[in-house]
Amino acid sequence: MRGAVIHAPGDVRVETLEDPKIRHSTDAIIRTALTCVCGSDLWPYRGLEPVGDPHPMGHEYIGVVEEVGSAVTAVTPGQFVVGSFATSDNTCANCRNGFPSNCLHREFMSTCQADHVRIPNAQGTLVATDHVPGEEFWPSLLAVSDVMGTGWWAADAAGVRPGSTVVVVGDGAVGLCGIIAAQQLGAERIIAMSRHGSRQELAREFGATDIVSERGDDGVARIKDLTGGIGADSVLECVGTAEAMRQALRCARPGGNVGFVGVPHEVAVDGEELFYSHVGLRGGPAPVRRHLPDLIDRVLSGRIDPGKVFDLTLPLDQVAEGYRAMDERRAIKALLTP
Ligand SMILES: [Zn+2]
Repeated sequence: MRGAVIHAPGDVRVETLEDPKIRHSTDAIIRTALTCVCGSDLWPYRGLEPVGDPHPMGHEYIGVVEEVGSAVTAVTPGQFVVGSFATSDNTCANCRNGFPSNCLHREFMSTCQADHVRIPNAQGTLVATDHVPGEEFWPSLLAVSDVMGTGWWAADAAGVRPGSTVVVVGDGAVGLCGIIAAQQLGAERIIAMSRHGSRQELAREFGATDIVSERGDDGVARIKDLTGGIGADSVLECVGTAEAMRQALRCARPGGNVGFVGVPHEVAVDGEELFYSHVGLRGGPAPVRRHLPDLIDRVLSGRIDPGKVFDLTLPLDQVAEGYRAMDERRAIKALLTP
């Protein structure tokens, strides 16, 4: 099969790799329908995370089941499936408590920028659609496997409810999907923090009511201006830097909540500031599997269209250009067709 391999920062190539095989009775093999490049793939690409030995890349996928292990009965060959970047058995205590991304048997997907993928814990991880959906739905279904699921979790963790005032920190694919989630959950006011014209446009299309282009202390001051000096009910932190987290915590009102889903890089929370703020803080790898059936239904019924975050489509063989375009911020998110 063909798949992307990172060799060093800035060096991702598509190579011929060994075909994936069923290794455990709980595995499935899928033929990838679509995959993509994630903002988090840019950390090693930019040399901000060690690359180590050359290794495959990618954790987002939709596809058609080709083969299943003997313990997999929930999906069968020929079915179209959506999964999560974190696999889960859907039966352990953590899964039953609603946190499949902390499953006791969790494996993080890491080989999905390829034309075939082995899915561990397939029984609990994969959700099949009733039939093969029209191709127009595929980008949005792919988004559900990570960025939309993560945006949803950010809004859920931040306690967004009907009438809420919401601030979204970060205008990448996850932040934009967070706006969709806040809109769907009934937020009355959604303030997107963004300084890029095309992203502001998409933010408004997804439901943002206000745009704030200032950052840091100036950004916090603007949010206070817009919220009667109090701050927002819910803040979605979708970046993962120290500055973004500080900004998120300071934009929330006393008693408000921050949902943080940006993978933290050198983020430290000031315990004393948090103590006196009365702000609630919850985040982590999104429990995407918990939300999959609902999000798939929202996509197929036309209520959400998160696939619009893909503004570049490339054949898998040109994966290097996908990384480059996202690194240079020429693209929000690159879709790859195997
Ligand atoms: Zn589990």
